[in-house]
Amino acid sequence: MRKLVFSEALLPDGWRRDVRIEIQADGRIASVTPDAEPGRLVALPGLPNLHSHAFQRGMAGLTEHAGDSEDSFWTWRELMYRFLAHLTPDDVEAIATLAYAEMLEAGFTRVGEFHYLHHAPDGSRYADHAEMAARIAAAAATTGINLTLLPCFYAHGEIGGAPPVPGQRRFLNDLDSFAALAEGSRRAIAALPGATFGLAPHSLRAATIEEIRAVRAMAHRDEPLHIHAAEQVKEVEAAQRILGQPPIAALLDAGLVDARTCLIHATHGTAAELARVADARAVIGLCPVTESNLGDGTFPAISYRAASGRFGVGTDSNVLISAPAELRTLEYSQRLAHRTRNALAPRGGSTAVALWQAALTGGAQALAAAPAGIAPGAFADLVLLDPAAPALAARHGDRILDSLVFAARDGAISEVWVRGARVVEAGAHPARAAAERRVAAVLTRILAA
Ligand SMILES: [Zn+2]
Repeated sequence: MRKLVFSEALLPDGWRRDVRIEIQADGRIASVTPDAEPGRLVALPGLPNLHSHAFQRGMAGLTEHAGDSEDSFWTWRELMYRFLAHLTPDDVEAIATLAYAEMLEAGFTRVGEFHYLHHAPDGSRYADHAEMAARIAAAAATTGINLTLLPCFYAHGEIGGAPPVPGQRRFLNDLDSFAALAEGSRRAIAALPGATFGLAPHSLRAATIEEIRAVRAMAHRDEPLHIHAAEQVKEVEAAQRILGQPPIAALLDAGLVDARTCLIHATHGTAAELARVADARAVIGLCPVTESNLGDGTFPAISYRAASGRFGVGTDSNVLISAPAELRTLEYSQRLAHRTRNALAPRGGSTAVALWQAALTGGAQALAAAPAGIAPGAFADLVLLDPAAPALAARHGDRILDSLVFAARDGAISEVWVRGARVVEAGAHPARAAAERRVAAVLTRILAA
């Protein structure tokens, strides 16, 4: 039994001092004892990153140049399609390895990979239908991050079953080929420690209600279902026009929203829709940094939280990977919209602790990874802070996490442990340097093309 001791730790019921954690051989926590013995570092539970498209890390920073017409999510999507047309399986593995190393360094210990880049550039299948899923699994194995693999079903180009466009051909499956792909993807993670699995009909643009129902029927017991919904006003208007109601209402009325569902974004959900989502105990996957970058809009987080709505956070486009930045951007979006402060904190409570704990619980639910947190039975997934770091000096308890989320520069996270093993030391992941070199070579080739 491995034993770790901490000066302070954030447990499910709050901060405790001099905490001893005992860890079993399988990486799960056997016991947590406060007021036991003093340690040097501060322990936080590692956060789940519930929504990532790893390959998009490769194009981070390359879409911030204004085009000839007004830029939007849709013009960004065109650039994204042009970028992914060049990617080989080797490229995807290299970029995912770098992205996952960065996630670990930035406070995430599990990634939900919403994986839609399945086929060769001409749309044909690889010899192993699940080749790309295996590359995602390899990146997770190299870095040590816990993986929740969410293979994506994508069949159409617009709501109502319109034909796909050429830029989407690497994503496409019918229900039969998707069932085979899902089985291949399950095999790809079968030997990966800590891995879980779910299914991801991409959106109502890419899958009809009947197809989403069929995909859900392919899920094994308790496997989650992730779907993008109401990210864009244009998408909401198209659903209203074609289906007679907005996307989230359509999913709710079809009986497709419950505690196994994760709705990604839900930015433009109506108050009535979001109240029903909260009642259904579904999780909303907020991606505040990407939603800001893409100009999606502002999620009504204050009223959703008042309705006890569940949420987690995701890095989505991976334009910048940071657990503190996702929580900070979420909180700041509400402060700007409502001209208030500490918008998402309970009365008398810490904003960062409220956000961290909510994103931990919601993310673990959405990624079939409960229990999570520093508690017996959970994996020992830990983010360790050095209390002597400049941004954290002289702080205790809530003030440590408030300072990490709102005031610390990169580098405040000292170590990260996954399943009881250290994967980040002195702020750095050992696989990062090699992955950076591989990704630089990929980008040099693609940008010269
Ligand atoms: Zn997404």
